[in-house]
Amino acid sequence: MAECLFCKIARKEIPSRIAYEDRQVVAFEDIHPQAPIHTLIISKAHVPTFNDVGTDEEALLGHMMMVATRVAKDKGLHEKGYRLVANCLESAGQSVFHIHLHLLGGRAFAWPPG
Ligand code: 5GP
Ligand code: ZN
Repeated sequence: MAECLFCKIARKEIPSRIAYEDRQVVAFEDIHPQAPIHTLIISKAHVPTFNDVGTDEEALLGHMMMVATRVAKDKGLHEKGYRLVANCLESAGQSVFHIHLHLLGGRAFAWPPG
């Protein structure tokens, strides 16, 4: 996906502060952090939304969750806790149409979310 922002970040055509990377995913710091720690975990494969995942993506989704917990531990967030968020489409606030998890930590979060 030549014009997709997160595909460009995954290909290093747009610079980002990378926290973790492997064959399937990249984790990097959000440009507009909503908490002291705000890291995005993206797939390297272009999948626009969580509506578009199927059984082919099952292992990838599990891996994204595992990487999120690993980055949370690396950043010391496992002690007090953290929030993982996945926005799907406009009503949830999705603005980049390439699947990603938000890892948020370093402060307390309200529930229910806004
Ligand atoms: P969404 O709103 O789709 O759930 O999340 C997209 C996230 O990507 C937002 O939190 C936004 O701040 C972040 N973002 C948008 N453009 C860039 C960018 O160029 N670099 C980085 N590091 N984050 C970005
Ligand atoms: Zn993409």
